[in-house]
Amino acid sequence: MKVLLQGLGFEKQSKYVRDYFYRTNMRASIYMSMVVIVLEVWMIVRMTKTIFENNLQSNFKYYFEKYYANYLVLLASGIIMLIYAIRYLRGKKIDKGVGLVIKWVFTFVCIYFGVKISLNDYSKGEQILTFLTMELFSLCLLTWKPYAAFIISASSYMYFFCKIDDMIAVNTGQLGTTDATRINFFIMWISTMMVCIANYNNTRSQALKDQNLEEVNTYLSKISVEDELTGIHNMVYFRTEAEKLLNYVTTDRESIIFLFFDIENFKSYNEKYGFHEGNDLLKRIAHMIDAAFNNSLVSRYSDDHFVVLTRVDGVQNVIGELSGEVKKLQREVHLELKCGAYKLIGDESDVSLACDRARFACNSIKKHYDRTLRLYDKSLEDKFHLKQYIVNNIDTAIQNGYIKVYYQPIVSTKTGCICGLEALARWQDPNYGLLSPGMFIEILEEYRQIYKLDKYIIEAVCKDYRDSVENNKPFAPVSLNFSRLDFELCDIVGYLCETVEKYNVPKKFIDVEITESALTVQQDFLPDAIKKLREFGYKVWLDDFGSGYSSLNVLKDYHFDVLKIDMKFLSGFKSNEKTRPILENIVELSKQLKMISLTEGVETQEQYEFLGDIGCERVQGYLFSKPVPLEQLRERIASGELNVCKEVKSA
Ligand code: C2E
Ligand code: CA
Ligand code: CA
Repeated sequence: MKVLLQGLGFEKQSKYVRDYFYRTNMRASIYMSMVVIVLEVWMIVRMTKTIFENNLQSNFKYYFEKYYANYLVLLASGIIMLIYAIRYLRGKKIDKGVGLVIKWVFTFVCIYFGVKISLNDYSKGEQILTFLTMELFSLCLLTWKPYAAFIISASSYMYFFCKIDDMIAVNTGQLGTTDATRINFFIMWISTMMVCIANYNNTRSQALKDQNLEEVNTYLSKISVEDELTGIHNMVYFRTEAEKLLNYVTTDRESIIFLFFDIENFKSYNEKYGFHEGNDLLKRIAHMIDAAFNNSLVSRYSDDHFVVLTRVDGVQNVIGELSGEVKKLQREVHLELKCGAYKLIGDESDVSLACDRARFACNSIKKHYDRTLRLYDKSLEDKFHLKQYIVNNIDTAIQNGYIKVYYQPIVSTKTGCICGLEALARWQDPNYGLLSPGMFIEILEEYRQIYKLDKYIIEAVCKDYRDSVENNKPFAPVSLNFSRLDFELCDIVGYLCETVEKYNVPKKFIDVEITESALTVQQDFLPDAIKKLREFGYKVWLDDFGSGYSSLNVLKDYHFDVLKIDMKFLSGFKSNEKTRPILENIVELSKQLKMISLTEGVETQEQYEFLGDIGCERVQGYLFSKPVPLEQLRERIASGELNVCKEVKSA
């Protein structure tokens, strides 16, 4: 039943399908109206010629009423239809209601014309081709709904049939139609309806196909320019549009500015409230930025970062207001919107570089709580070049031996002697001098190159061990810093095992430090890697404990051998009275969890004594030594300034 109703055109159509039919109608009506116009002009010419040749001018009124009036009505409706259809197809703004009226008038005029001419022809014993042609044209191409075509055709065929049934046939001289004519007529009507239904269903399925294609296309083009999470534009859109804008001759390059936004402490928010709430916050902030910079290009860059290309005028006020709004969103986590800005120099038009520079400016004010906006300037440019230098030269630095391992002693509070060494990287660069990890670790992580450095440090430490054993020099177990990305970018555990074997280093001489923040990012492979390391016989330490928000969760979910208490706890040792009880509690907790406690950043004798008193087993800090090259460490041990605990000596 449903199929039948659908086949007859009763089902509800989508707007797309309706428009499709309307367009098809208009296209068909162009051909039809042209045929009608040519036909009518020809009829008028022929009739006029006949009148003049036969000197019938005196009867002009009769001819006008009988023929010319009809020809002119048809001609006029053909011309109006043609003009309307052409204008519509050319995309002119046109009232569709008027179009429908014109179409229906044209349809009825065509059918009326067909009936009239063919009745005339039939009465002279000729074919009724005009009627049939007009029926076919009008019903199949203009009246596309089969049920409407049925009504029109049934009434017009019926009318036509009644009319000819009232005539006296020219050939037989008898009144009424013969059986053969009746049958032929009926077959013609059925055929017209069949063609009409088939044509309708064909056009309909084509329309549905086109509709699907268009929907897929729209979806694809939407996701290609839209950020899935926030719904604002993505970087593909930003780059394309920004490039276009920069290349317009009319763009006043002086008046535009690139902005890079970062939500400071978003990671802590995510850790504290979970991913869902984190995503909600991102969406809200994305839409706030989008709304604040309407008429500008706004996109999500990545994670909690956004970029904007806008006009310089008034930008400071907008950023100020926006940052105020973001501050209002915070709960227990202190959220801050940071913005870096970059103005183009000369005729440069590299969008990625402009975003990178704005980002760099933004990063430079991270953790500066009083600053929201920073413009990229000369002093930042020098730093920016250093960053590019680091990314481009890490391979050379490793090959040429510019990367050095410095060792910082870890001291036992019981004996006061060295029970371990932390390996810390330094970059001794021929152009920039000594670079500290603060200048390159984060950059190498950002560009996913950190594993190269960490692999190099593993080998360098193993070599130093072998060298110490062979030359009978003191050495102690070394703790290595692993980045979270090492586990993702290479098989760092496999590499460590191979290297340790190659240099024949006892496993108890190598420990691995993993920072707390690495463990708060949800990654499947990290827990496995930690488990594997411990199974292979390496000790795993939790670095920077207490620096994030989820320290206690980390302790619940993983097992560590050593708990390295972040140096921020000691920074307020003198001024903040809460520091001591907190440290005491952490040390107590690590005992309960069967972990060795180690406090970093010990700078004063007072701190050292306090830590010893509360039972913290190990300490590390400038009080004993800064990180130093192996040679210097050996000298200080040789001079008796530092002592290595007997039980950990390698040789
Ligand atoms: P970290 O692992 O927390 O290392 C301790 C940092 O604190 C070192 O800085 C050390 O020099 C410094 N420090 C030690 N004692 C004191 C003190 O008493 N007072 C003060 N104010 N600071 C002290 P460094 O060597 O600059 O390293 C910074 C960070 O870079 C390290 O933090 C570590 O996260 C990372 N890093 C260093 N070397 C490597 C490496 O080879 N691989 C990886 N992935 N990261 C590394
Ligand atoms: Ca460390
Ligand atoms: Ca640390």
